[in-house]
Amino acid sequence: MLLQPFCPCGSQIRYPDCCDVYLRGKALAPTAEALMRSRYSAYSKGDVEYLIQTQYPKKRKNTDRPMLLKTITNTNWMGLTVLKTQKGGVNDRRGIVEFVALYRGLELTDPIYQLHERSRFLKEDGVWFYQDGDSLPPIPLK
Ligand SMILES: [Zn+2]
Repeated sequence: MLLQPFCPCGSQIRYPDCCDVYLRGKALAPTAEALMRSRYSAYSKGDVEYLIQTQYPKKRKNTDRPMLLKTITNTNWMGLTVLKTQKGGVNDRRGIVEFVALYRGLELTDPIYQLHERSRFLKEDGVWFYQDGDSLPPIPLK
């Protein structure tokens, strides 16, 4: 595996000081955006358990684990850009994060696709969860 000095989430912070703290359960993501970024890192690192844990319990399905495993096995995540956040701060109970994630298959020759989503997050007993999201059409990127 390649040595990855910076966190996959694009924060420009070294991974052990960024999303790794959340993935390892050393701290709770304080904001909706932090949770969203850590979930992207979990996809990138193949951490299925974290993805399930951070999904709102009522939204979890039995099919999540095989689906996530399949996605993780077949996807090479190429980068995350957070476009917009609404609420989702330390004092909020709900938040929305709009982002673009670039990905492709495992072959270097595979085309690059864009996942553009508006995700909803909610906080219960001080813990942020991913609720659900709307897929949006791809946008031109700088
Ligand atoms: Zn990170």
